Amino acid sequence: MTSLSPPKETFLADYRVPDYLIDTVHLHFELGASDTHVRSVLSMRKNHQGLGGDCVLDGEHLELLSVKVDGQQLQGNEYQRTDKSLILSDLPDKFELEIETRIEPDKNTALEGLYHSGSLLCTQCEAEGFRRITYYLDRPDVMAVFTVSIVADKEQWPIMLANGNMEDQGQFDDGRHWTRWHDPHPKPSYLFALVAGDLYRQQDHFTTMSGREVSLQVYVDHENSHKCDHALTSLKQSMLWDEETYGREYDLDVFMIVAVNDFNMGAMENKGLNIFNSSCVLASPETATDADYHRIQGIVGHEYFHNWSGNRVTCRDWFQLSLKEGFTVLRDQQFSAAMNSEAVQRIDDVNQLRTMQFAEDAGPMAHPVRPASFIEISNFYTVTIYEKGAEVVGMIKTIVGDEGFRKGTDLYFDRHDGQAVTTDDFIKAIEDANDIALGQFKLWYSQAGTPELKLRGHYDVINHTYSLHVEQSCPQTPDELDKQAFHIPLAVGLLDEQGLPLLLQLEGEERAYKDFTRVLTLNESSQTFTFINIESEPVPSLLRGFSAPVKLDIPRSNTELEFLMANDSDSFNRWDAGQTLLINTLLALVNNVQLQQPLNIHKGLIEQFSTLLTSRKMDPALVAKMLTLPSENYLAAQMTVADVDAIHAARQFLKNSLARGLKQEFSDVYKQQNSTGKYQFNSDDMAKRSLKNLCLSYLVATDDPMQTQRCLKQMKQSDNMTDTISGLVALANQVGPEGEHALRAFYEQWKDDRLVVDKWLTVQAQSSLPDTLIRIKGLMKHPAFNIKNPNNVRALIGQFCRNNPINFHAKDGSGYQFLVEQIIILNKLNPQVASRMLGAFNSWRQYDASRQELMKKALNDIASQKDLSPDVYEVVTKYLAD
Ligand SMILES: [Zn+2]
Repeated sequence: MTSLSPPKETFLADYRVPDYLIDTVHLHFELGASDTHVRSVLSMRKNHQGLGGDCVLDGEHLELLSVKVDGQQLQGNEYQRTDKSLILSDLPDKFELEIETRIEPDKNTALEGLYHSGSLLCTQCEAEGFRRITYYLDRPDVMAVFTVSIVADKEQWPIMLANGNMEDQGQFDDGRHWTRWHDPHPKPSYLFALVAGDLYRQQDHFTTMSGREVSLQVYVDHENSHKCDHALTSLKQSMLWDEETYGREYDLDVFMIVAVNDFNMGAMENKGLNIFNSSCVLASPETATDADYHRIQGIVGHEYFHNWSGNRVTCRDWFQLSLKEGFTVLRDQQFSAAMNSEAVQRIDDVNQLRTMQFAEDAGPMAHPVRPASFIEISNFYTVTIYEKGAEVVGMIKTIVGDEGFRKGTDLYFDRHDGQAVTTDDFIKAIEDANDIALGQFKLWYSQAGTPELKLRGHYDVINHTYSLHVEQSCPQTPDELDKQAFHIPLAVGLLDEQGLPLLLQLEGEERAYKDFTRVLTLNESSQTFTFINIESEPVPSLLRGFSAPVKLDIPRSNTELEFLMANDSDSFNRWDAGQTLLINTLLALVNNVQLQQPLNIHKGLIEQFSTLLTSRKMDPALVAKMLTLPSENYLAAQMTVADVDAIHAARQFLKNSLARGLKQEFSDVYKQQNSTGKYQFNSDDMAKRSLKNLCLSYLVATDDPMQTQRCLKQMKQSDNMTDTISGLVALANQVGPEGEHALRAFYEQWKDDRLVVDKWLTVQAQSSLPDTLIRIKGLMKHPAFNIKNPNNVRALIGQFCRNNPINFHAKDGSGYQFLVEQIIILNKLNPQVASRMLGAFNSWRQYDASRQELMKKALNDIASQKDLSPDVYEVVTKYLAD
């Protein structure tokens, strides 16, 4: 063994095909929490397209017991080892390689490979965890057929699962039992999974479109046996939806989901055996909110859809991660939109993209959807790869239309089934199926940064034409200074002064376009589109449905925004006009706070929101979205120098002003929407609860003691977590004894339910009250908190650092110092989680000089640590780079 080498960068340009291939894998596990024995038998051959030479197998944190080639045991001088690999030389064209290793699952706090969680043993192999189980060609373009046998003590591990179908099982005399699983579909090692433990199983079934009977099974801890229904319902919905929408059918006899309490990610799409963070599976009305139900439905869908977009057709290398993730996120967004409200889904997706991904694209970690290099691939499971990747695939769908997109995806799945491919292969299939060229479009995969569109309209009174001039540009990113013009689909409509849609006919066209929305093709840095037969000056509705992930620069008066907010037929743009109005108002208030001038808002705004609140025509969920103020983080991103204190003060002022100005309306709507029926998860009820609880949050801002009573009453009478937690959040952000009482009572009631306790941690982590950091430090010593559990870390530390700007960015730097201390601990325990937490410093250069100085010092403190993991090293180095 050699010592640890410094982190090394990997480049897409250096990709070459594997020198060896693996046809079949037989894995044999003798399980123990502290000592697991793994025997791997690989039937291997030289890849004639490769360069030949040594066979370099990946392996980390393994104790090597023996290596055999074609049955011959190799001596220590017949192979080489480093801390990351096992190297074999002088191999025949075809051979059988047998490797025995020993691993220690209970010492694995990184939660990659095989690890111990509660009373379970489970795996997480994406991206490079399989190499912590045995030596292997641990890369996605090596696909093999796996057979897995597991032996363990029956009492301790009564359930033993792996990918595929169970072939056989039996028992030994000594109290141990065994199972054997076979997955007929060749797969890369990152999709391998194994679970063992004492679990409750809930079953259902699904008949596929060709008549295959599939057993559906959800495995959870026994105490959670009443929380599986929603996941199973969501799974059946996903299976049916994917057949109807993409023509994709399931391909094994069983589909399993296992809930695990200690998990770095949300969930993992291992073939036939999905492993989920328990927070993304378990739901009951009393313990899960509407948002949880909605998220679970989307994630169950997402992982299920990967069976085709990811498993049957996988990625050639990790630079292609968005091939499976961008496409699958788009699929889960479509699915969630179909199951719930399409308009609300789009608003939520765009809101997340703008808040998180735009910040990433403007920061030191900016990278293209298909990155050109990485040090640690775990750092690239980002909002850019996932959410922007989904927008990119969504734009392709907009460009070729729904039918064309389906033709393209059908060809993609047919052509590449069983292969490991690239984003270029995906584009090629769409091009071939639609007979179009997307060469320029591919820049979306290789250029980082958020494009900006400068739009200027001009109405010609004499010729009755309206011309729209568009200039596109893209800011520099650390990887690239010069950007080429993108191919951008810009969906537009025009409204007359009554708010009615106008026919859209471009100069040179014989007749008007069939719809009131049309997609303009932007492909040059500067273009002008002229609409004819426009009788009076129109109001343009631009980037309808957020047709491209870009920023708009367009001068608009408040009157024009109010007009769009009231009249635009595109619900996304109605919401967006309202948000822009709020952002303009808030930024003006921020300015007044900074100049120490009196604060006020124009009356028109209150009237607008009053109309909105009392309108019975609109979906209550949409009304709630429109009345939700932009977050402090999003506002910070709109300023050249983010002023944390002024933003907080301005936002509080606006919230209080709206609350006081519309108190009666909020109170009336609260009563109207407060249904007394039993909890159900459906769009209508969810919409009502969202508007009701939004009203409650405003009512509490009036400082009327009656409203505190209303919160307490809501908590007391609630039969569901959505209403309970809304009451608790409102109380916990108030000064006074009620909040303390409510928090204490809530904990007493739920202390045995870890997912609910995570919510209790989050409510406190997000509190804007001034003593929050002291409270958090106290909570870290509370029995409810364990730093080895990623959900705990995200609920407390993550929420404080990312979603509590006023306290995290405290002037004295105490928030930064706190995060540094946690990252140093986590770097050793769980590098992936440590690196995620570091993300709170992403926008550090956007703050004032003294905060920048404090954050720079914090980053330097981390950078100067010895033994930094590659995960943390890569991010901290990029943050500090000039
Ligand atoms: Zn995924």
